[in-house]
Amino acid sequence: MKPISSPVKNGARNNMPSHKKILVTGGAGFLGSHLCDRLMSEGHSVICVDNFLTGRRLNVERWMNHPRFELKGHDVALPLHVEVDEIYNLACPASPIHYQHDPIQTTKTSVLGAINMLGLAKRLQARVFQASTSEVYGDPSVHPQVEGYWGNVNPIGPRACYDEGKRCAETLFFDYRRQHNLDIKVARIFNTYGPRMHPNDGRVVSNFIVQALNSDPITIYGDGNQTRSFCYVDDLIEGIVRLMATPASITGPLNLGNPEEFTIKELADLVIDMTGSSSELTYLPLPQNDPRQRRPDISLAKEALGWRPSVKLREGLNRTIEYFDTVLATEDRVAGAIESTAMGAP
Ligand code: NAD
Ligand code: UDP
Ligand code: UDP
Repeated sequence: MKPISSPVKNGARNNMPSHKKILVTGGAGFLGSHLCDRLMSEGHSVICVDNFLTGRRLNVERWMNHPRFELKGHDVALPLHVEVDEIYNLACPASPIHYQHDPIQTTKTSVLGAINMLGLAKRLQARVFQASTSEVYGDPSVHPQVEGYWGNVNPIGPRACYDEGKRCAETLFFDYRRQHNLDIKVARIFNTYGPRMHPNDGRVVSNFIVQALNSDPITIYGDGNQTRSFCYVDDLIEGIVRLMATPASITGPLNLGNPEEFTIKELADLVIDMTGSSSELTYLPLPQNDPRQRRPDISLAKEALGWRPSVKLREGLNRTIEYFDTVLATEDRVAGAIESTAMGAP
C-alpha cells in the first residue's frame, strides 16, 4: 500500500471538540498507560480497556478515582459497546515471550480486536488509531525500513502470530477505509522502552537493566551483532498523539521510532557501564526468525507530523534504570522478577 502523506498543520481538527471522550485499548500496559497519562493531562475523558494479560492496574492507579477516567476489564477479541469520539487500539502483548505463550490468542487479539474496534469506529463515525509494528517488515532485507517495503515475514514461524496478526490488522484498517470511508491512523512502532515496562516483560531493555541491577548474567541471544533502534516512550507518545491530530487524508502507515541503531552487544555494554554492574555477559541461542537488523526511516513522520525523537539512548536508559532501581527496591517480587527474566531466554 502506498503510504499517504502530505504536509499538515498540527493541532486539533476543526469539527472536533477540544474535550473528547477517548477509548484506549491496552491502556493498562506500558505504552497504553503513558498514552492515558497524556490524554488525561490534556483534559480528555478516557475509557481504558484491558484484559490485564501483560498490563497492570498499578500502571493507571493514579487515575482510578478520577471522574474523567474509567477502567474496564474486557477482551478486545469480543465486541465492545461504548460511546466515544476517538479510539486508540493498543491491546496486544508486545514481548516475544508473552505473545508466543498463547499464539492463537495473540492472533485473535490482533485480528478480532481490529475488527471489533473498526466496527465500533464505524458505528460511531469515530477516528481510530492502530498500534502496528516494525515486525510487519519481519527480518528485513531493506535497510533502513521504509513504509513502502512489504516485508519478509515467515507466515508459519513462532513470531507469525504477532507479525501476521498485525499485518492482517493493517489490511482490515485499510479495507474499512476503502469500503466504509473510515477515518484511520496506522503507526508502525519500532522498539520502544522506558519506565513502566514490566520487570518480567522479557524484552531486551528491561531484561538487561533488571539483570544488571541484580548482578545477574546479561542474556545475549545469538552473537549480539543483531541491531535494534530504541525509542524512548515520551517521544513515541508524542508521535502517536500528533498522528491522531492530522487531517483525515493522512492515514499512514507511518513509521514511529528512533533511527539511532545499536547492536545488542553495544546495548549490553552500555547498560553495564551505566549501572556500574558486576554482571557478566552470557550468550544463549538466537530465537528462530529473530530479525538481524532494524532501523526506521522516519522521513514520512518528519514531513507529516513535524516530529522526530529527541531523547538519546543514554538519557532514556538513565531514566529507565532509575525507574527499575526504585521498582526492584520496593516491590516484594524481586526474586520472581529475576527468575522470570531468566525464563525469557529461548
Ligand atoms: P504491553 O504488553 O505492555 O501492553 C499491551 C496491553 O494490552 C497490556 O495491558 C495487555 O494486558 C493488553 N491486552 C493484551 N491482549 C488484550 C486483549 N485481548 N484485550 C484487551 N487487552 C489486551 O505492550 P506495549 O509495549 O505497551 O505495546 C502496546 C501496543 O503497541 C501493542 O499493540 C504492541 O503490539 C504495540 N507495539 C509496541 C512496541 C514497543 O516497542 N513497545 C513496538 C511495536 C508495537
Ligand atoms: N462491534 C462492536 N461494537 C460496536 C459495533 C460493532 O464491537 O459498537 C463489532 C461487531 O460485533 C462486529 C465487528 O465490530 O463483530 C464489526 O462490525 P461491522 O459493523 O463492521 O461488521 P458486521 O457487524 O456487519 O459483521
Ligand atoms: N534479546 C537478547 N536478550 C534478551 C532479550 C532479547 O539478546 O534478554 C535480543 C533479541 O533476540 C532481539 C533483540 O534483543 O534480537 C530485541 O529483542 P526484543 O524482544 O526486545 O524485541 P524484538 O525482537 O521484538 O525486536
